Amino acid sequence: MLEAIAIAWFLLFFGDFLSTFCYHIPEHVFGSLHLRTHHSWKKDFRHYAILTFNLQVLLDGILGALPYLLVAVFLWPFSHVGVICGLFLGQFHVWWRHVLVLDWRTPKLVSFLCQILFITTPERHWLHHQKTNLAYGDIFTFFEQPAKTWLRWLRLLRLYLRHSVSGVQAD
Ligand SMILES: [Zn+2]
Ligand SMILES: [Zn+2]
Repeated sequence: MLEAIAIAWFLLFFGDFLSTFCYHIPEHVFGSLHLRTHHSWKKDFRHYAILTFNLQVLLDGILGALPYLLVAVFLWPFSHVGVICGLFLGQFHVWWRHVLVLDWRTPKLVSFLCQILFITTPERHWLHHQKTNLAYGDIFTFFEQPAKTWLRWLRLLRLYLRHSVSGVQAD
């Protein structure tokens, strides 16, 4: 039982870590798919929660979920139950963190529990939808600070790459 809980937590932790640092943030800096689909305004719950057949929305969702699946494969031998629970909890959190568009407001007790456990609430995730510099860590709030640093570094890298490309073109 304890092992299953630990494996589920590890899956969500490493899945969120890899998804945030290897897809979400680089996609914000170098890409446009995630911005165009997930950050577009006035979409409905099904759009944000990836319960749609829109191919671009699905692609963004799959790319974001891929790290969780890779971690799941790695953790599978340790606890099948833990991996399955972790994947279900991850999927549940995708839906839950977008319920603000359904006029949900998180009860104070739930917000308090999330604060103690460093879990992203729908309110916090909505902040990221509005301000793309803020509230990284789809599931865990403790990725916020390292995410900001990574975002800054990647923006510098983008600047450097643009500069060197325009330098090459000018030569
Ligand atoms: Zn979202
Ligand atoms: Zn985003």
